[in-house]
Amino acid sequence: MPTYEFKCIDCGYQFETFASMSEKTKGLNLKCPQCGSENLGEVFGAMIYLSKTGEIKTSGGCRCGSCG
Ligand SMILES: [Zn+2]
Repeated sequence: MPTYEFKCIDCGYQFETFASMSEKTKGLNLKCPQCGSENLGEVFGAMIYLSKTGEIKTSGGCRCGSCG
């Protein structure tokens, strides 16, 4: 199963979860394991895609270590 990385918008806690494609398409209804918030964004590299609002945020500089 693929792993998805999420970040809590409220407290900043970042965590991973497993889900099948069909589960993800239906919506995962995840909650932050730390504060219980449902205000989560999915993390793609340095970008955070907020699934509820469609907004894309960048979290600052790239952390890949190879592009300065
Ligand atoms: Zn949280």
